Amino acid sequence: MSRLTRRHFLKTGMGMAATSLLTASQSPFAKGQSSGPAGMRVVASGNGIRATEKAMDLLRLGYDPLDAVIAGVTIVEEDPNETSVGYGGLPNEEGVVELDASVMHGPTHSSGAVAALRNIKTPSQVARLVMKRTDHCLLVGDGALKFALAHGFKEENLLTDKAREAWLRWKETLSDKDNWLPPKSEKLTSELKPYLSSYGTIACIALDDKGSLAGVTTTSGLSYKLPGRVGDSPIIGAGLYVDNEVGAAGSTGRGEANILNCGSYQVVAFMAQGFSPEEACLKTLERIARTTKLQPRLLNKEGRPDFELNFFALNKKGEFGSARMWSGGQYAVHDGKANNLRESAYLFKEIK
Ligand code: ASP
Repeated sequence: MSRLTRRHFLKTGMGMAATSLLTASQSPFAKGQSSGPAGMRVVASGNGIRATEKAMDLLRLGYDPLDAVIAGVTIVEEDPNETSVGYGGLPNEEGVVELDASVMHGPTHSSGAVAALRNIKTPSQVARLVMKRTDHCLLVGDGALKFALAHGFKEENLLTDKAREAWLRWKETLSDKDNWLPPKSEKLTSELKPYLSSYGTIACIALDDKGSLAGVTTTSGLSYKLPGRVGDSPIIGAGLYVDNEVGAAGSTGRGEANILNCGSYQVVAFMAQGFSPEEACLKTLERIARTTKLQPRLLNKEGRPDFELNFFALNKKGEFGSARMWSGGQYAVHDGKANNLRESAYLFKEIK
């Protein structure tokens, strides 16, 4: 997938229609986007290469695309070395891991989600049960935990030693005026540096050979967040959206910016207008960059968003793409033949 610079993006004229409102015939719910089954595809964030492999294996066996993507991301949720998702995820500011996840099933246009769920390794599976066994779309906190326990999930401590030590270092480096002293050796702090503050999530979307779409987004959210903070991942339309007539989109990165712009819904809406998945991701990022101008504290010196946000998209025709706010990231694609990491397009080039 070729990299698309902002300049190229604007030159192609795609930027021109960015602000136009949807007409009825362009509605993401309009029929007629499909040209029939396009072959199986699975698309995920860059940390999802094992998920795309697993989901494709299951699609080939005839599994529902939602079950396929959930089985894929479960591998990542259960991996203690992945510090942004499930077991091993970085905790909130009190050292407690709180997980968010959503699922959406295209053929039934239904969804389920959990937020601020503690002690359960696989929130995506709980989100699927919310969809299948309740009349609700989202359960949070204690209610989500009670629901999971009622369905036989086992409570476990999700805080691994690595995540606990990173959290401790984070606390110790917050201020030199409190009673938490940093360790004598700086070595530990530098080893844990990548974990001192971070985002991270897995989003995975799929198309089966009948033209059915589904998706999942699952995360431990923003590291060291305020307890109870809910990001975009469990919010349908922000961290995930699926319209079985059009396509699917998922997201990772700064959840607050995504919630404020209904990002994944917007990507699908742009695809419904005829934009390719990559164009739809870029146009959504452009909108987010524009609305972020109203929040100066989130801008860099050049007036651009000082955060990362990524979108992954797949349409009913089997076309896929991804874009991020800043250059330098990849996404995972299984196109039915090969499972690869590809370069994401981007809105702004990172100057190193
Ligand atoms: N979007 C997630 C959140 O804001 C975090 C991430 O994807 O990095 O909770």
